[in-house]
Amino acid sequence: GRNYLIGGNWKCNQTTESALELVSVLNAAGPIPTNCEVVVGIPYPYLALVASKLRSDIQIASQDCAHSAKMGAFTGEVNVNQLKDVGCTWVILGHSERRSGFGGDSGESSNLIAGKCVTAVAAGLKVMLCVGETLEERESGDTIKVVKSQLDPAIKALQPADWENVAIAYEPVWAIGTGKTATPEMAQETHAEIRAYVASALGRDVASKIRIQYGGSMKAANAKALLAQPDIDGGLIGGASLKPEFADVWRGML
Ligand code: 13P
Repeated sequence: GRNYLIGGNWKCNQTTESALELVSVLNAAGPIPTNCEVVVGIPYPYLALVASKLRSDIQIASQDCAHSAKMGAFTGEVNVNQLKDVGCTWVILGHSERRSGFGGDSGESSNLIAGKCVTAVAAGLKVMLCVGETLEERESGDTIKVVKSQLDPAIKALQPADWENVAIAYEPVWAIGTGKTATPEMAQETHAEIRAYVASALGRDVASKIRIQYGGSMKAANAKALLAQPDIDGGLIGGASLKPEFADVWRGML
């Protein structure tokens, strides 16, 4: 079977002080069940610090990476080799917040995100590839169509074997930071459709191995019911990953 992949995404939060405080709490939070893998997505300025202080059985992710692995004239970018150098083993790519853009920026396309997936996997980083529909898209019945269109460029760009190092994070945009979680049944339905699509595009073997995480107002109180669904293989947790409660998600799986 598939191990659970419990991801935290700190987004643009924390200071040195608050990061270190949370690291101490997580370090003291007891054993991680053998069927769980835990990863936290750290803002760039704190990556090296957190990597040096956090228990070694919690892995470190960045929340993005440059499209190119090269050093050079890419102002503001951070490349996969730099991320590995400071202790990252994972990268979150294509988060809906990056897709939608900031401050009037047009945001990242699925093509750009697919290119970043290739760069990351080629460097030996693992990827949490985020997909998910808006409320409007769900209400017009386009959920799986939207998710497929977000996955297609990555399916085209990556080799089938690369998918061993990729997890898909299904994060319905309307559930992110809103307190509105998809019900376990609703999430399961989309996860099953995603797995079926992966099977049709990449084969049953890739589909049976790939972890599909749910993200969107996941917290200790609702994690267990979501993770009990057959096609929900983990979570990507924003707000609740900033609190000691994050550890209760894996404790709940003991
Ligand atoms: P919340 O858990 O705060 O809803 O965020 C989910 C998310 O976007 C994780 O990447």
